Amino acid sequence: MRNEEVLHSFFILILNLLSSVKCPDCKSIKNSVVDSRLTDNNSAIRRRRECEACEHRFTTFERLRATNLIVIKKDQTREEYDREKLEHGIWRACEKRPVKKAQIDSLLNRIEEQWSVQPEISTSQIGEDVMLGLKDIDPVAYIRFASVYRQFADVESFQKIIHNLGQEMEQQSLV
Ligand SMILES: [Zn+2]
Repeated sequence: MRNEEVLHSFFILILNLLSSVKCPDCKSIKNSVVDSRLTDNNSAIRRRRECEACEHRFTTFERLRATNLIVIKKDQTREEYDREKLEHGIWRACEKRPVKKAQIDSLLNRIEEQWSVQPEISTSQIGEDVMLGLKDIDPVAYIRFASVYRQFADVESFQKIIHNLGQEMEQQSLV
């Protein structure tokens, strides 16, 4: 029993070291979780912690990232999914548009959650999902992202997207 307890506290120590949640006051990594709840469309855990050294209480916000996701590129090579890189590309499309950070954050959280059930995802699937989400957020950002992503090899596919978008916007304004 005693050995198990030692082992247990050893694992807790290792876990704390790995996650290294430090007290913002005294920098101690020894803390206990007082409260824990899912937040932000279940894509993050908000934890209320108490420092065991100085009793200071603080909150951590841990995102459940799709970190293990592997991206299959067009040439069939693989690389690790990089949310920041994707986010950067999305923001380039949203330049000078009235798009809020919260909108892009929740779009990314939502599609990352969809992707998290599979080990690998193709760049074309990523592009399609982002395009679909951007369409509801901002039509201009959508067209910009689509033009970069699809590279519009032919004028026809570009015209088709513009045409479809125009029709959808008309339908929406009729409702
Ligand atoms: Zn402390």
